[in-house]
This record gives sequence, C-alpha cells and structure tokens, in this order.
Amino acid sequence: PLDTTIPDNALVCLIGAAGAGKSTWASTWPGTQVLELDRFRALVSDDAGKQEATDDAVFALQAVLEARLARGLMTVVDATNSETAVRAGLIATARRHGVPTVALVVPTPASVCVERQDGRPDNRSVPAPIVRAQHAAVVDAWPGLPGEGFDHVVVAENIHRLEPLLQRLSD
Ligand code: ATP
Ligand code: MG
Repeated sequence: PLDTTIPDNALVCLIGAAGAGKSTWASTWPGTQVLELDRFRALVSDDAGKQEATDDAVFALQAVLEARLARGLMTVVDATNSETAVRAGLIATARRHGVPTVALVVPTPASVCVERQDGRPDNRSVPAPIVRAQHAAVVDAWPGLPGEGFDHVVVAENIHRLEPLLQRLSD
C-alpha cells in the first residue's frame, strides 16, 4: 500500500530536481514552516541564485531547523535534497530531536523539469545538465529512502494537498 502519512510536527524533506515543483508543494504549508534554501541564499547574499553563498545559506538554514525541531514544530525543508549526505544530515538532526521524518518525493519527469527552467530569471535558471543530474540522483535514491531512515516515504502525486491549493489560486 502507498504511504501517504505526513504526521504532525514532522520534518518533511522535499526531494526533487530543480523545477520539479517542490516550492509549489511547500506553499501548501504555512510560510513559517518552510525552510527554502533559495530564500536563505537570498537572506545571506541578496541573490537567491548565488551558488557561492550556498555554504552560508545551509549554515543559516540549519540553525533555524535546530531551533524549530527543539520546539517540536512542523518543518518542511525545501531544497533538492538529491544528495545522500544531505539527507543523512537531515535525518540525524531529526533523530536528535526525536522528530519523525518524511521524504516527500516530487516525481516530475526530467524533461518537464528542464523545460520549466525556460522563462525563469537568469539567476534562478538551472542549466539542463545539472537538472538532469539532480533528477538521476533522485531516481537512484528513491528505492533506498526507507533504508536511509525516513519514517515515511510519500510520493507527492499520491496525496491531494495541492488540489485545494490550486483551486484557491484559481478562485
Ligand atoms: P527549484 O528547485 O528550482 O526551486 P521547484 O522544485 O521548487 O524548483 P517550483 O518552483 O515549485 O519548482 O515549480 C516550477 C514551475 O513549475 C513553476 O512555474 C510552477 O508553477 C510549475 N508547477 C509546479 N508544480 C506544478 C504542477 N503540479 N502542475 C503544473 N505546474 C506546476
Ligand atoms: Mg523551489
């Protein structure tokens, strides 16, 4: 049976290539619950696309993550999370705080992720080879996610949180 469980007060790790639709899913949670890496890049450098600022952005994101999990608050990490080591760090942090973890995989085809880079501002447009590499990493990672220690592995398409959201947006 498909796991569609997202417990309250969990750490939700979005997983998907650039353009997969992670931030769109994240927007179904209240804004303060979403830690978006691009936003932290902007906070530390005034430029959401500045890759050189990633280390500082990750450091700042982790500080907020620790503070929220210490309070047992629902937290959604909106980043590609396509690297095993990044996911391992998030799981370890959640474990330290006794918080359940959810991998929320956004399974958009690579070709669609690449197409969606067109029309993005230059500083936010990810080159196609990088998008394809992220996508391949997610495909490789997906069968192993339960073994990595996620308490729940949910495929975004199997839950319907987005429908009420899109309805609201079109009203
Ligand atoms: P990044 O990693 O670069 O931040 P992302 O995974 O956060 O990318 P989004 O910004 O959420 O991706 O979505 C990329 C584009 O795809 C947006 O223009 C968004 O409106 C569109 N999009 C997202 N989800 C859907 C969907 N389910 N149906 C149609 N369009 C979508
Ligand atoms: Mg995004």
